[in-house]
Amino acid sequence: MHEKLLVWYDKNRRILPWRALPGQVANPYYVYLSEIMLQQTTVPTVINYFNRFIEKWPTIEAFSSASLDDILMEWQGLGYYSRAKNLKLAVEEMIVQNTFPQSYMALVRYPGIGSYTSKAISSICFNEHVVPVDGNVIRVFSRVFNISTPLPALKKDIVCKTEQLGSGKRAGDFAQALMDLGSAICKPKNPKCHECPLMNVCEGYKQGTCHTLPARLAKPKKPVRYGTAYIIQGNNHVIIEKRPDKGLLANLWGVPTSPWIEYDHPHEKAACAATDKVVKHVFTHFTLYLKIRYISILPWESLHLKHNQRLVSLDEVQDYALPTLMKKVLQELLCFTADNA
Ligand code: SF4
Repeated sequence: MHEKLLVWYDKNRRILPWRALPGQVANPYYVYLSEIMLQQTTVPTVINYFNRFIEKWPTIEAFSSASLDDILMEWQGLGYYSRAKNLKLAVEEMIVQNTFPQSYMALVRYPGIGSYTSKAISSICFNEHVVPVDGNVIRVFSRVFNISTPLPALKKDIVCKTEQLGSGKRAGDFAQALMDLGSAICKPKNPKCHECPLMNVCEGYKQGTCHTLPARLAKPKKPVRYGTAYIIQGNNHVIIEKRPDKGLLANLWGVPTSPWIEYDHPHEKAACAATDKVVKHVFTHFTLYLKIRYISILPWESLHLKHNQRLVSLDEVQDYALPTLMKKVLQELLCFTADNA
């Protein structure tokens, strides 16, 4: 399997801005940053963000001196903002220790660096003989070895299989070859088996099961929460506030909202759904519906802001780190302002 895959990889490897070209040494900062960005995010989206980050903070030292607000500002739109916070914490720790950790065991101790990411960095940058197991590897291995255990239990079986098989001598290339094969050939739907270097050894292909793998248990329905966004505005200004430094969307800015709760009562659900100014946003674990409420803040003299609030113009609000949810809410304000001009 290793040899077939590496021969294919040497001819078909993807050129990506964080990857070393053949014969070059991988930059651990680039690989680390890209792997964190790639968690839950696609390669085409990450390329733009990665290039912007590297332009702004070309080295790990430069990144360590950036403020969290600046990092969140650049991270806007990538989602899963705790990744940015953990990145900052981990890099600061590395700078204090004056070292970039080189092994899986050393890397996995840092905030935000889990088993997959630490194995990806240590194999790609330091050729440690480990195999990072992500969605691509799970798909390829479940098909090649025709493993029908459904997710999420399947992941444990695949990790055991990769440990039995080993990474071979070119650990980093083997990891990246699996990533590239999963992305270009062994796709979730319609795998291109006739272009695949593993076709002759793939049990899923031989048994005709590859389209059904990896198997999944039926997903439970995503819960729904409801809340109200308060757009307190006037004279082209709006009140925004910084969210607490813990929890969902920590440290990001937005308009004040009510708590987001799951309604059990059908009339309340209907009332919320019936209003024509509702912003919908899908988080990983729930779907949120936010009703929009406009409140005028004139006269200005009576305005009392909380310590985490600012009164900003509609132009200035772009200078604050806003999650996608709040960008959608503020888009409603822009439409409202245009309608009432
Ligand atoms: S032969 Fe088909 S199913 Fe098997 S690894 Fe290749 S692309 Fe995937």
